[in-house]
Amino acid sequence: MRIDVVTIFPEYLEPLNVSLVGKARARGQLDVRVHDLRQWTHDRHHTVDDTPYGGGPGMVMKPEPWGEALDAIEASGPQGTAPVMVVPTPSGRPFTQRLAVELSAKPWLVFTPARYEGIDRRVVDAYAERWEVHEVSIGDYVLAGGEAAVLVITEAVARLLPGVLGNAESHRDDSFAPGAMADLLEGPVYTKPPVWRDRDIPEVLLSGHHGKIARWRRDQAFRRTSALRPDLIERCDPAALDKHDRAL
Ligand code: SAM
Repeated sequence: MRIDVVTIFPEYLEPLNVSLVGKARARGQLDVRVHDLRQWTHDRHHTVDDTPYGGGPGMVMKPEPWGEALDAIEASGPQGTAPVMVVPTPSGRPFTQRLAVELSAKPWLVFTPARYEGIDRRVVDAYAERWEVHEVSIGDYVLAGGEAAVLVITEAVARLLPGVLGNAESHRDDSFAPGAMADLLEGPVYTKPPVWRDRDIPEVLLSGHHGKIARWRRDQAFRRTSALRPDLIERCDPAALDKHDRAL
């Protein structure tokens, strides 16, 4: 997968050099290119923002540098191929594991993290006529800029790419994973030692009985989800749970 990020703070994306994403890049599974938006400005001060039409506080990012940047990125790819544009914005569609799965199937993503009050609307409208565009929010709060959202979305997507996680099964039972766990939260996990500060681990985990362990995990997931995210239980597909139970 190729990922392009256009930002006025390229250094903010440095964490993409470490850990899982950094290793995926080093192995050639992920091609990440971070671009400074200001290279597509033409005035002495490299201006990227201006006052909002209609008045009001704050500044708005000018459309011209974004248009030049996105055209240049498109031209740098294979001829006739358009990237998928991901626009971080608090007014976007909530970012979920389902959307991460959807984005992980795309060969090329371009992120447009903004600053100030956001990007002149005409940019998204213009590219939405030619490209697939997703306006995405990482939560119901407002950050100072979209770079942190790019880090979040990139990491969630990258770990789903084939070969990026050591064990391909690792994300199958994750919280929210569509399928076996029917979008529930994952239950508690334990490792050695078997006793820590007088606390044992649940006996069933030592039983070696795969069916019982799977059922216990499902029950724990259900319990935790009921307590913390009842909205997920309401949306959960009973058919998926039945299927999971039959497999136990
Ligand atoms: N005035 C905008 C609004 O209320 O929708 C907020 C602009 S915010 C200060 C600047 C930029 O940070 C946004 O354009 C977006 O790129 C990013 N951002 C802020 N909160 C975000 C969130 N929850 N999810 C994704 N991106 C966010």
